[in-house]
Amino acid sequence: MSNLDGLSTSKAVNKHVKVLILGAGPAGLAAALYAARADLQPLVLTGLQLGGQVSLTNTIENYPGFPDGVGGAELGELFQKQAERFGALVELDEAQSVDLSARPFKVSTDNGEFTADALIIATGASPNLLNIPGETGLTGMGVSYCATCDGWFFKEKKVVVVGGGDSALEEGLFLTRFATSVTIVHRRDSLRAGAILQKRALDNPKIHFIWNSVVTEVNGVDKVEALKIKNLQTGEESTFLTDGLFIFIGHTPNTQMFEGQLEMNNGSIKVDERMHTSIPGVFAAGESADSHFKQVITSAGMGAAAAIEATRFLEQQAG
Ligand code: NAP
Repeated sequence: MSNLDGLSTSKAVNKHVKVLILGAGPAGLAAALYAARADLQPLVLTGLQLGGQVSLTNTIENYPGFPDGVGGAELGELFQKQAERFGALVELDEAQSVDLSARPFKVSTDNGEFTADALIIATGASPNLLNIPGETGLTGMGVSYCATCDGWFFKEKKVVVVGGGDSALEEGLFLTRFATSVTIVHRRDSLRAGAILQKRALDNPKIHFIWNSVVTEVNGVDKVEALKIKNLQTGEESTFLTDGLFIFIGHTPNTQMFEGQLEMNNGSIKVDERMHTSIPGVFAAGESADSHFKQVITSAGMGAAAAIEATRFLEQQAG
């Protein structure tokens, strides 16, 4: 089953809902499940990344209930199916702007305008760029931010991974299925990733490390051919031949739309311990509001909490 199955798209809609959820990752779909089970018939606008970041991850090994791990896309589909079973409507549409100055809240999309009595923001985060010459021009031509999506194209090829966190190591390990060698370039000499992933990466004969170094330039004509790599300790720059560059250097919350309307905290939406934002009736969950844990389970938990609070809010409004 694809994530697109069963999705409806709206055309020039002007629709009012009790609960509108922006984003269909673990936070948005967990919120949808809880709001649906409260009989609020929530509407979820998926945004462009169906299933959220988790759907781009090959295997999730730390979501309870799946002792042998579960595919990221499969988990996203299961989340959606479970929410839909209780009446959540999931639509392929992306919010372009919001007006939170009065109730009902207004959300404009490519397809029309939605109004909602309560809003749950679960817009997630997007991968950070290195912002180096050649990066943007060669994206899709060897530069990638998703090993699960693009790993297949690097069969019997050499790739470089940038980053020292869980994502870099997990995706680097995934790339060893295809590539002949995976070179991880990290700006320090110790990894940020958790112990299990560190051990797996350090023990993998296909993975090599270049420590204390950064990629400063991507070179190639219509495809990645080489990188400039700078050693931060010596200042020395060298050319490294490679077919691909995978960048995993963290994420930025997708919250630009809410700036100036909601209180923010370093780019994340500021929420209290019950997922309330600075505007009553607007809640936020997952990576749009969490710059600390960023796990599937914590995002799903925040989504559930946001929906429980949205339900209470609507009950109070109804008197
Ligand atoms: P992260 O933990 O923030 O790590 C980002 C890595 O990129 C760090 O090693 C950082 O270096 C490096 N970096 C940042 N900016 C850079 C730049 N401009 N140039 C070069 N290197 C740069 O991000 P993440 O790995 O995407 O993980 C995000 C969150 O998701 C974390 O909480 C992580 O635990 C979680 N996650 C968990 C799993 C799992 O549990 N299996 C899998 C994936 C992600 P420094 O170390 O020097 O700061």
